Amino acid sequence: MIDRFATPGVRERFEKLAAETVAVRAEECARQDRLDRESWQELSDAGLWRLAVPTEWGGDGGTWWDLAAALEGIAAGGRDLGFCLSVVAQAGLVRSLLTYGTDAQKEYWLRRLLSGDVGATALTETTGGSDVTRIRTAARRAADGDYLLTGHKDHITNGPAADVALVLGRIPEAGDRDITLFMVDLHAEGVQRGEPENMMGNRTSPTGPIAFTDVRVEPHNIVGEVGAGIEAIYNTISLDRLLYGILAAAYLDPLLDQTLEYALTRNAFKVPIAEHQYVQGRITDAKFAVEATRWVSYGALDHLMRESGEASLMCSVAKYHAGETLKLGTETALRVLGHLGYMEGPYAQALKDALGTVIAGGTAEMQRKNVFNQMRRLAA
Ligand SMILES: Cc1cc2nc3c(=O)[nH]c(=O)nc-3n(C[C@H](O)[C@H](O)[C@H](O)COP(=O)(O)OP(=O)(O)OC[C@H]3O[C@@H](n4cnc5c(N)ncnc54)[C@H](O)[C@@H]3O)c2cc1C
Repeated sequence: MIDRFATPGVRERFEKLAAETVAVRAEECARQDRLDRESWQELSDAGLWRLAVPTEWGGDGGTWWDLAAALEGIAAGGRDLGFCLSVVAQAGLVRSLLTYGTDAQKEYWLRRLLSGDVGATALTETTGGSDVTRIRTAARRAADGDYLLTGHKDHITNGPAADVALVLGRIPEAGDRDITLFMVDLHAEGVQRGEPENMMGNRTSPTGPIAFTDVRVEPHNIVGEVGAGIEAIYNTISLDRLLYGILAAAYLDPLLDQTLEYALTRNAFKVPIAEHQYVQGRITDAKFAVEATRWVSYGALDHLMRESGEASLMCSVAKYHAGETLKLGTETALRVLGHLGYMEGPYAQALKDALGTVIAGGTAEMQRKNVFNQMRRLAA
């Protein structure tokens, strides 16, 4: 369906590639708590990150519809929600650089990301992820004019594996409006990455802490205006929010097909369980949610591309539905399969992975809050 908006064939190309790469290695990478760098590189080589980037920065000159189509393919073919979360995190970073980066930043950082480097966006600290104004990471000026960044980030997607990060920190000398975005090379002196966190799911999308101790950041690696970091990051990660919706629907399509197939072949009370209306109701409720999520996410992307005043609201609607639909869809599969679904294995794993999406990328409550605030703003 996305071929109506994106370049035809992109989704199929990445679905096939993800089936041959991500899907094959997912189990092993989950056991090892690691991002599948081999598949990441293969997808990068196939042009994943070039899709939405203008040709002047080494891209193919497509649109975010093309990246969304590729993500659909990766979700459907790769069958690994964790890998998709890592892709979404990098998509937001690419958009941040395209939107707020200087020509020099695009030239340097985008070219790295396009060729296979892994990126992270580091906002959350122990002070909390919902209210990022409480961050403590801060930069002071060295005698030579560079910034020295010190602080500690937690729960950062790709953190243990990433090469570069967009980091939200303060520049106290800037005064009250001091929250700023820094591009940081994670191989630089003073950066320390922790072990992958022990999450209940999404183990192929390792999250982890990143500590910065007097990490040198040249002023030209500040992204956007000093003090304008919060507005910039909220704007650019709105893309991440709707991408959750797009991947949710594409990931659940085959899972629902499998669930239906099981219901048609498993007998109870002398008929296939698919004949029982309560079972049908569960499957159709999941289908309603999947289609609503898919189409509201397409709508959100359309609003975002048109820079419409409703874009932020729609992206939060998409993100809210993404988490709830992933939860419902994976729970539906588990319930219809009965005890087989509850065994440790793909169905239980899918539910555990799905639960992470009601927190990652902004909790369901924060999406509600944004939707309400946006409604009030639009009404005024
Ligand atoms: C899989 C995964 C990947 C992640 N990746 C990243 C990443 O790449 N980069 C990054 O910076 N962070 C990342 N995070 C962290 C994530 O952004 C935070 O966990 C999230 O924003 C919530 O922050 P918190 O856990 O500190 O909870 P808190 O902010 O402490 O919130 C706790 C609870 O209170 C609720 N709450 C808080 N404020 C309000 C309010 N005003 N109204 C209503 N309810 C409220 C929240 O919804 C939540 O239910 C990731 C998390 C997960 C699970």
